[in-house]
Order: sequence, then structure tokens, then C-alpha cells
Amino acid sequence: MDLNKLFLNIQKGEISAISEGITLIESNKNSLIKYKNKLLELCLPISGNACRIAVSGIPGVGKSTFINEISKLFIKENKKIAILTIDPSSAKSGGSIMGDKTRMHDISKSEKVFIRPSPSSGHLGGVNIHTKDAIILFEAAGYDIIIVETIGVGQSEFEVKNITDFFILLTITNTGDEIQAIKKGIIEITDLIVINKSDGNNIKKSQILKRNLTNHIISKNKTKIETCSSLKTQNIDVIYNIISNYFKKNIRTKKFSEKRKLQRIIWIEQKIKQQILKDFYKKNEIKKRIRKLSSGIEKNKLNFNNEINEIIKLYKSKNIK
Ligand code: GDP
Repeated sequence: MDLNKLFLNIQKGEISAISEGITLIESNKNSLIKYKNKLLELCLPISGNACRIAVSGIPGVGKSTFINEISKLFIKENKKIAILTIDPSSAKSGGSIMGDKTRMHDISKSEKVFIRPSPSSGHLGGVNIHTKDAIILFEAAGYDIIIVETIGVGQSEFEVKNITDFFILLTITNTGDEIQAIKKGIIEITDLIVINKSDGNNIKKSQILKRNLTNHIISKNKTKIETCSSLKTQNIDVIYNIISNYFKKNIRTKKFSEKRKLQRIIWIEQKIKQQILKDFYKKNEIKKRIRKLSSGIEKNKLNFNNEINEIIKLYKSKNIK
């Protein structure tokens, strides 16, 4: 594998090279780890310059329609956008017709836009261990804006917060998910709440929700709240200005680079943890112990605590077969 050539072509922004790089990065094959890490090593020094935006919300709330609209304004500003989106065929529909619909249809043909779908399977609703690596690659390829879409499932919001700069929570009236977001502490990490589908009969209800949320939030933090209609392209420009002002104001500050540094540390820790655990669970003795523990649970015949402690002891010792 000629990684230097691949990297040079990624740097030039060649679509086929970017696709090849992303496929390599997303691979779980052990034999490819050294290539994957080498590619990241080449990309890292020229990465870190994009505005990274997270868009989260339950299925059907309008994430892809919203991303489609907001991206058009970035394209107008001559920005290149990479969108890490959720593969619609793997997403639970939750009332929306996601299956065969072409998501983000207007922007998908633009040469300034690269859309990378990933399966929504797993507990992190679209964010996975490869997402941060993909961001690094897109930055090396010269993308100015990276949008990471996630299905709000609780943990995913916190994971995506660790790899992005600006967190948008999309909501609509009558779902109650904003109450969940308040309960789970998601509002605290949210930079902007967007109440979507504020059109037709929904305008009044959206305004009420905005007022209620404002009352809840005002004393607590700096989260902004806006209503919009992605379908009718209403108030999208206001939201665009909030996002771009945030980056204009913050991107060169010390606080911002400190945050990036901290995110990098978390990423390095995760990389190491991921490799250590992968090797650990591959050991025959560990596989055997875990199987024994599992069948013991089935037969209701074991001392769970002791067994777990034994496995942890093995983890700490260096002599596992
Ligand atoms: P996602 O699952 O969160 O990506 O949601 P989609 O963007 O696929 O939208 C789900 C459905 O809501 C689609 O039928 C959209 O046309 C519709 N939709 C999205 N935004 C709006 C909006 O602002 N107003 C209205 N009335 N419908 C919308």
C-alpha cells in the first residue's frame, strides 16, 4: 500500500483518494492497523483547522433537511463541507420516511460537499470510534466545515461533544425529547437548540416551546434557542449567522485551542484503550473465562463478583495466554 501517494492525493482533495482513506480508517481489520495509523500520522500535522459542528436529534426531527439547508449557505461562502451522516437504510424510521429517500438531495451533487454515511447501529447512534479519525482525514483534505450527525440516544451527544466544537440539538414540538434532554444534562452541553418544523400550524407551538426553554435555560448557561423551518428555508440564515459568529469569535482564542488539546488527549486515550482491549479479548484464556462466566449465569451457578475479579486480575498480570 503506497500511503505516501494516498496521502498526497488526499491532500489534493481527490475524491477517490478520500474515499479510499476513509475506507481504510473505518476498517476493523487488525492487519490494516499499521497502515491506518500511518495515514493518520501523515494527516495529523495538517489537521485541526476545520469548524466541527454536531447536529443531533431523534429520527424524523428534520436533521438531514436542516443540514441540507444550512450547508447551502456554507457553499455560498465558498466553503468545503464534509458531512458524516447516518446511513438511512440502517436508521430506525421513527415516523419519518428515511428508507429510500435521498437525504440532503440538493447538496449531494455539489463538488464542495462530501457525504459519508455510517451505520447508526450500536449504542452511539452514528458516532463511532472511527468518527474522529475521519474528521482528521477530512481536515487534511482541506474541508472547512465538518458536520457530524447523530441520532440522540443519550450517550451519543456526549461522545460527539468530545470531537466537535459546536453542538446543535434539533427538536420539534410535542415530542417531549427536550424534557429528556434537560433531564439527561444534554442542554448543558448544547450551544444551540433549534426548534425545527416551525411552519403552518406549528408556528405558535414552536414559539411557546422556545419561551419555555428560554425560561428554563436563561439562568443556567449560554445555550441559544432558535425556531426554523428547514422545509421552507425560514430563519436558516439567522441560525447560520449564530454558527459562523461563534467560530469567528472563538476559533483563534486560547480557550478554543485548549479545548482542542483536551479533545486530542481523550482521542489518544481512546485509541490506546481500544487497542489494549482488542488484544486482551483475543487471548484464549480470557475468551474461555468469559464463556464460562456467561454459561454460569445461565445455569444460575457462579460467584459473579469473584469471576469478574479474576478476569481483572488476569488483565493486570502480564502472563495471559
Ligand atoms: P431526520 O430523520 O432527522 O434526518 O429527518 P428528515 O430530514 O429526514 O425529515 C423527516 C421528515 O420531516 C421529512 O418528511 C421532511 O420533509 C420533514 N421535515 C423536515 N424539516 C421540516 C420542516 O421544517 N417543516 C416541516 N413541515 N417538515 C419538515
